[in-house]
Amino acid sequence: MAVFDGEHIRFSFSQLGSAFGNAVKPTPLDNGRLLTYNAALADELGLTTADIHSESFRAILSAEAPLAGRQPFAMKYTGHQFGQYNPELGDGRGVLLGEWRDDKGTLWDWHLKGAGKTPYSRHGDGRAVLRSTLREYLASAAMRGLNIPTTQALAMATSDTPVMRERIETAATLLRVTESHVRFGHFEYLFYSRQHDALRTLADYVIARHFPELAEAETPYAALLQEIVERTAEMIAQWQAVGFNHGVMNTDNMSILGQTFDYGPYAFLDDFNPSNICNHTDYTGRYAFNQQPAIALWNLSALGYAFTPLLESDVINDILGGYEHHLQVAYSQVMRNKLGISDAQQGDSELFNALFSLLESQRVDYTLFFHRLSHITQDALLSAKTLSQFNDLVSDADTLTAWLSEYHQRVAAHDDNTRLTCMQATNPKFVLRNYLAQQAIEAAEQGDMQPTHDLMRVLADPFRSHSGLDHLSQRPNDDEKDLTLSCSS
Ligand code: AMP
Ligand code: MG
Ligand code: MG
Repeated sequence: MAVFDGEHIRFSFSQLGSAFGNAVKPTPLDNGRLLTYNAALADELGLTTADIHSESFRAILSAEAPLAGRQPFAMKYTGHQFGQYNPELGDGRGVLLGEWRDDKGTLWDWHLKGAGKTPYSRHGDGRAVLRSTLREYLASAAMRGLNIPTTQALAMATSDTPVMRERIETAATLLRVTESHVRFGHFEYLFYSRQHDALRTLADYVIARHFPELAEAETPYAALLQEIVERTAEMIAQWQAVGFNHGVMNTDNMSILGQTFDYGPYAFLDDFNPSNICNHTDYTGRYAFNQQPAIALWNLSALGYAFTPLLESDVINDILGGYEHHLQVAYSQVMRNKLGISDAQQGDSELFNALFSLLESQRVDYTLFFHRLSHITQDALLSAKTLSQFNDLVSDADTLTAWLSEYHQRVAAHDDNTRLTCMQATNPKFVLRNYLAQQAIEAAEQGDMQPTHDLMRVLADPFRSHSGLDHLSQRPNDDEKDLTLSCSS
């Protein structure tokens, strides 16, 4: 950690200077109070139950008090939204409260979302509503449970502050914690506003704080871009494998750590529909599920362009050119894990594709299919009983039989226990289905947090059964599918 003590490295983002944002004073909630918190995360950060229930934590969470001795700071960034550059972005309703050092020495950014207006609020009110805040709280816990890189949410406050959306709703805050809140859009801002010295400062800060080992590389900025490309490719491979549709992959919602960032109208797929669109303002399907790998490259290219003052263009292009390969490697690995296949072989992508076309044409529930498959022993794969286990999911038994016999052959030489163990550690029983999030929200709005607590329990450990809560693995009824999600968060 000595690197942070050096005089030339200022570890706090808010100390980088006025090119990076503005000191702000959060606007307190009316009667702000702790609504819920993530106990496992609190523990990881070194916070006790008493700390969480203390008056000082309540005041921090309610935007009444800063984090000890730190100056709350609204970060400036820009970004491409639906392909268009928007120079007006920044922390419009969130503030960086400061850094928290846990017992292991890791520094966490504490970011309070919904803390009132900032210079970047534009026409917004600086608030976040209970509904969208709870969606972020639950989704970040779900991703963490699935071992997919993500920001996390430590706690939420509710209040008596009304906010106007499509109806009057309750203002809430979310305390988001992650090692970095730097987005692709931070680099884009300094590039497009021609503040290239500050751009270099940002790159140096990111390397010093988050990737100190890259400082030793021959070309640290190239190593940094390379690292972001690889992490993004790995994150996307995991999204695709688990069936996660982010919905708003603007470059200001992309983390330089390759974490899932900014949860809006996301969805975990129920039926496997590759062209799923979860954001109802996404008229062209730019951010559809099957567009995510290509959009991530588009976003990385936008970041690469912002690196042109730091690196030669052909170096940038070479690095971007590696994205496809990293994605393919990561994706094939996780797909093989989903099927318990231990080694890569020619013909594997045909096997995957045949399965995807079956799942798509039969509108099969993606999570349930893989979860059930991961409990079928090799000698039972072709039995009538196995087929009957899928008959509520797959209507065309012949196609399924044909695929199962290909699969049976492919895993014939595998140790069956190893195969099943791998599959069971990869294919969750529980994902945060939209209908479940919606039920938790409706209950929370009535003051009942039990559905949230139940979901948090299964999502933290989604690969096994949870006695009394297994109904949370069920797919939605037809009328609970395809909930249209409002963007007014
Ligand atoms: P998002 O759609 O959450 O990624 O936000 C895009 C931009 O709009 C960011 O600059 C946000 O800070 C800003 N923003 C979103 N909602 C609000 C709000 N209620 N008040 C002020 N700014 C907002
Ligand atoms: Mg955003
Ligand atoms: Mg958002």
